[in-house]
Amino acid sequence: MTARQVLVVALGDVRGPVLEAVTLARTLGTPTVLSLQPLAEPDLHALGTAGVERALVAELGDARHAAAVAGRAVATAAEVTGAHRVLLPTSFVAKEVAAHAAWLLDAGLLLDVASLAEDGDTDQVVGGKRVFAGTWETRCAVTCPVAVATVRANAVVATPADRAASTAAEPLQVDATLPRGLELLEREVRPTAGRPALAEAATVVLGGRGTEGDFAAVEELADVLGAAVGTTRDCVDEGWQPHDAQVGQTGVTIAPRLYIGAGISGAPHHHGGMQASGTIVAVNVDPDAPLVQIADFAVIGDLQEILPAAAAAIREHLDQSRGS
Ligand SMILES: Cc1cc2nc3c(=O)[nH]c(=O)nc-3n(C[C@H](O)[C@H](O)[C@H](O)COP(=O)(O)OP(=O)(O)OC[C@H]3O[C@@H](n4cnc5c(N)ncnc54)[C@H](O)[C@@H]3O)c2cc1C
Repeated sequence: MTARQVLVVALGDVRGPVLEAVTLARTLGTPTVLSLQPLAEPDLHALGTAGVERALVAELGDARHAAAVAGRAVATAAEVTGAHRVLLPTSFVAKEVAAHAAWLLDAGLLLDVASLAEDGDTDQVVGGKRVFAGTWETRCAVTCPVAVATVRANAVVATPADRAASTAAEPLQVDATLPRGLELLEREVRPTAGRPALAEAATVVLGGRGTEGDFAAVEELADVLGAAVGTTRDCVDEGWQPHDAQVGQTGVTIAPRLYIGAGISGAPHHHGGMQASGTIVAVNVDPDAPLVQIADFAVIGDLQEILPAAAAAIREHLDQSRGS
């Protein structure tokens, strides 16, 4: 029996979340990657290490930013490869693209799954995901032959394949016509200060109202750890941080391996957006703060003293391990 074909979609750069999706895809069958931008040598090397033999490249120019066009490319790639399983790393954009692709493929759609497995008895794929602000673990089976799923960042640890492959890139022809009535007028790429994207970072340092608007200590610790910076809605409302740094019910949902929340009370609206984090560390002057109650580790004290001290200790440790 030939292995089931699984399509993994890279909407942007081949980064950690794509390799996590490839790792998950290997448990389902043979992964092929679709990239919507040209693949450079380091990308092909990373994919080869992850065991990907075949990569399709659909060069759509600026049209790739239209979810309908990107979704068309995903559907075309699934048809060309015969893939009945299509995985995309989760993002707001990916969810929209996945919906377009699922509609074109007449497929079932799973959003934000942390796990995916074939059910040998039913031949259905089953996804595991948290719902209702992280309070319920659910399992959802796709009951039609084709499944499209977005995979939550950090849910899977990206690992190299047992046998590395030599990845061959081949062009994929896709109709890049924009849907009627849609015109791309302008596109602005926001500066990221060199930090990882909030939704996909393995480590996130967040500051809340307890910072009183001074995020220098939060940013210093984030940079020592190679982490993303996040915040609460109150800080966004105060104008201290941009909205795309807001974690929670009306912001970004994150599930990093390490969450460090400083000067954050842990209100339910915030909690729902970070509850799936691996290890939770709270820094707060109030030992009764809700975030302290759910944290794996808590440091009780002033964040303006604790965060710089932590950054200095980590920096010293890193310097020592580099020197040894
Ligand atoms: C419809 C709706 C949607 C919402 N959506 C979101 C959302 O998506 N995300 C979100 O975050 N919020 C959201 N909120 C707001 C949410 O309810 C809380 O008000 C908010 O999360 C609180 O932010 P905070 O923890 O920064 O501030 P606070 O609740 O004021 O907590 C500040 C904490 O800092 C501690 N502190 C003070 N000084 C220090 C210090 N020097 N060192 C250490 N600790 C200190 C205090 O003890 C306190 O625990 C929403 C609210 C509504 C009504």
